[in-house]
Amino acid sequence: MESRPFPELRSWRALDRRRDGAHEPVALSPAQARSLERLDSHRTLLFARGYIVYSILTALAAVILGIATGADAVVAVLSCAAVLLVAALVATFRLPLPYGGVAVVVINVIGVVTLDLAYSGAASFDLQLFAVGLSVFVLMFGATRGLRLALTLVISGIFVLLQFVGVDGFLEPALSDERLNRISVANNLLTVSAVLVTVLVLQLRFAAARHILEGSARYGEMQATTDPLTGLVNRRPVIERLTELERDERYDYAIAVLDLDNFKDVNDAFGHDCGDAAIASVADVLADSFRDLDVVSRWGGDEFVVVIARILPSELEGLLERVRRRIENTWFGCAGKETSVTVSIGAARARPARTPHDCLAAADDALYQAKEKGRNRVVTIQHYERSSSSRLPDDPLL
Ligand code: GH3
Ligand code: MG
Repeated sequence: MESRPFPELRSWRALDRRRDGAHEPVALSPAQARSLERLDSHRTLLFARGYIVYSILTALAAVILGIATGADAVVAVLSCAAVLLVAALVATFRLPLPYGGVAVVVINVIGVVTLDLAYSGAASFDLQLFAVGLSVFVLMFGATRGLRLALTLVISGIFVLLQFVGVDGFLEPALSDERLNRISVANNLLTVSAVLVTVLVLQLRFAAARHILEGSARYGEMQATTDPLTGLVNRRPVIERLTELERDERYDYAIAVLDLDNFKDVNDAFGHDCGDAAIASVADVLADSFRDLDVVSRWGGDEFVVVIARILPSELEGLLERVRRRIENTWFGCAGKETSVTVSIGAARARPARTPHDCLAAADDALYQAKEKGRNRVVTIQHYERSSSSRLPDDPLL
């Protein structure tokens, strides 16, 4: 058994290892949710740096293109861009990501527009604005949503403007159609790959946010349905199970109610902490004695309720008797001494035309009889009538 139920998560793979059921979200403590957020920011930062390196390389490629085509303006602007991009990359190691990120976006837009104006619309440099627009959501991770939206809108506006002004290209002499075509193909490929990688990063970020959200919700749900002292469920899941059984009209289950005998005396003799240890030790025995399909709950105080699924009439009494004996023979440390407690158990099986609530009331009556007969025993009730109230006793949800 894991000694800490919620160890810190240091990798996404650790999260997968904790996932037993394929679609069951993993419960995440607030500390784990925070460590996953840190992992997500770290991964996004790495991708952002990768994107900046890619921008530097494309700027250098454009400088080479400028030299090859004799476009001095392109060489000058894109060389400056490459230097500034390196500075922005360094900035990501010293400042929060959005500072370097916004600089990269602006430099990339200036670079793309310069290339588009130099080589004409036929070279398809304007397409790269798509990738630049999308990159805002990775490069400016952590910036306000308004700023990111505003930048994306400005970039979209520049793209639309370039379509309308019908750029001819200021380069003299103009490049041949064949060369322009080759540059256009390169731009198409670069844009598609940059867009794909950015979408992948955004998808990973979305999946991380979903993990964190679902995991935190699951944790809240677990907190609301788990008894902190014993780790057993509290009465909520029992009530849910009884409601399900009522809907299904199944009759192959039984309900057992267990109550520690003379528990006030244990508290008085050994103290409240020992009383707690006794409750926890009984809970451990119960958790170990029933199957996963049974619901073992701490109903409250020194009382436990177990909904036992698919049990034959002939098996019930023997099962509960074994549990009673195991508890009697379980010794635990209390104020320097070894001691044990006993329980009385009342049980009833489901019957046609009786609700699960009737069954629970009958099990409660059986417990009362077990106490009356001298405690530390099992009493099962075979026949019982409909309970006068169809509501659960002390049901906090009704
Ligand atoms: P009986 O055999 O008739 O059940 O006698 P009892 O003394 O066990 O009486 P009862 O079940 O009515 O009393 C339960 C006692 O359990 C009352 C309360 O002081 C104690 N108790 C309830 N919850 C806790 C708890 O979380 N920790 C401890 N240490 N004691 C608790
Ligand atoms: Mg008791």
